[in-house]
Amino acid sequence: MSDIFIIVILINFFMHLFYFYGINTIVTNYFPKTYLKYEFRSSFLITSILFIVFYYIFYTYMLDGTLLGDFINYFFLLSLFYVYASIIKPYLIILLNKKDRSKKYEDFLKKHNYYYPVFITDPPGKNAYALGFLPKGKVIMITKEMINSMSDRDIEAILLHEVGHHQKKHLPYFFSIVLFVNIIMILILVFVNQHIKKEIGIIDMVFMIWGVPYALIMYYLEYIRKPKELEADAFSAKILGAEVMINALNNFNMATEGRLEKHSNSHPVLSKRIKSLEKLL
Ligand SMILES: [Zn+2]
Repeated sequence: MSDIFIIVILINFFMHLFYFYGINTIVTNYFPKTYLKYEFRSSFLITSILFIVFYYIFYTYMLDGTLLGDFINYFFLLSLFYVYASIIKPYLIILLNKKDRSKKYEDFLKKHNYYYPVFITDPPGKNAYALGFLPKGKVIMITKEMINSMSDRDIEAILLHEVGHHQKKHLPYFFSIVLFVNIIMILILVFVNQHIKKEIGIIDMVFMIWGVPYALIMYYLEYIRKPKELEADAFSAKILGAEVMINALNNFNMATEGRLEKHSNSHPVLSKRIKSLEKLL
C-alpha cells in the first residue's frame, strides 16, 4: 500500500507539473505559486483519490502480475489525469459551480447560435479555455481577471475562439492523441516490467523512473495544439472579422505584459497568429 502512495504522488506530481507549466506559460506570470494553490491542488488531490479507489476496485488484477493486470494498473495511473481533466472535471463544474455561470457571456454566444455554458473562475491570471468534449460536458472557462482587464468586444472574440475549439472538435482530437501515446507507452512499460521486475525484484521502480521521460513526452506533445490555435482564431475571425480578433489578441497580449509574444509549447507566438489572421482580411 505504501508503495502505491509513493508512486501515485510522484507520477501524479510530475504530470501536473509539466501539464500546468505547459498551459500556464501562455496565460499567466503567476506560475507556479498560485496554480499550486488552485487548480493544481484540487486536480492533484482528486486524481490521487480516484486512483486509490480504482486500485481497490481492480486490485485482484493489479496484484496478479499478469500482462492484463499490469496494463490496467498503469493505464489508470497514467491516464487518469487526462480522463479527469477532459471528462470528469467539466461535469463537476456544471454540477457544482452553477453560481459561476455567466448569462451575459452565454448571450454573447447565443447571438451567433452557439450554446455553451460559460463559467467565470477565480484563480489569478488572465485566461480563457474550452474544456470537455462529451455530450452536455462541453464548457468554456474564463477568469475574473481576464474579464476585468478587457472590453466586451475582446471577450466576445476570445470566447468565440474557445467555441472554435469545441466546434472544430479539437478537444477529442487532443484527447485521442494523448490516449494513443499513453497506450503505446504503457505497453512498453508493461513489457519492461514483465521482464525486469521479476528478475531484479525492484517492484515498481521501473514505473517511477518511467515517470520522467513520460512527463517530458507529454510536455512536448503540447506542440500538437499549435495548428489548432490558428484554426480557432480563424473561426472567431470568420464571425466577427479578422481585425476584431487581431485587436483582441493584441489587447490580451498587453493585458498580460507581453505573454503572447513569448515561446509556448501549445500556442504559436503572437506575430504568427496575427500573420495568419491577416490572410483572412
Ligand atoms: Zn485556444
